[in-house]
Amino acid sequence: MHRDENCLFCKIIAGEIPSNKVYEDDLCYAFYDIEPQAPVHFLVVPKEHICCAAAINGENSGLVAHCFEAIAKICRQLDVDSYRVVNNCGDQAGQTVKHLHFHVLAGRDMTWPPG
Ligand code: 5GP
Ligand code: ZN
Repeated sequence: MHRDENCLFCKIIAGEIPSNKVYEDDLCYAFYDIEPQAPVHFLVVPKEHICCAAAINGENSGLVAHCFEAIAKICRQLDVDSYRVVNNCGDQAGQTVKHLHFHVLAGRDMTWPPG
């Protein structure tokens, strides 16, 4: 499993920084966002360090599918049947942590288009 020693989310996955875990399996880790933007707001990350969505390729795209399977499973467990999945890729889109992650937001009306 590739890890980046300087990466905040790699440290969270390893348990070196505490987090409020929602779900974990061999390939992904999910935890509540420290600054929630909705009544339900958690992040799903592959355990493998992938910097961003632009680095998804034929070798690692199975991890993305796996994250979405986990999202569906977690939402069923939380009894959440409507939710938004967001990925920010790159600085202009607002990506602040350079480890691929999917925001899952629920529990309030969502606006479209997003800001
Ligand atoms: P981004 O801005 O890269 O799309 O999303 C990064 C997210 O990580 C933000 O929503 C931010 O609140 C969250 N975050 C940053 N640091 C921590 C932390 O130490 N713990 C948790 N649980 N979330 C964090
Ligand atoms: Zn990382």
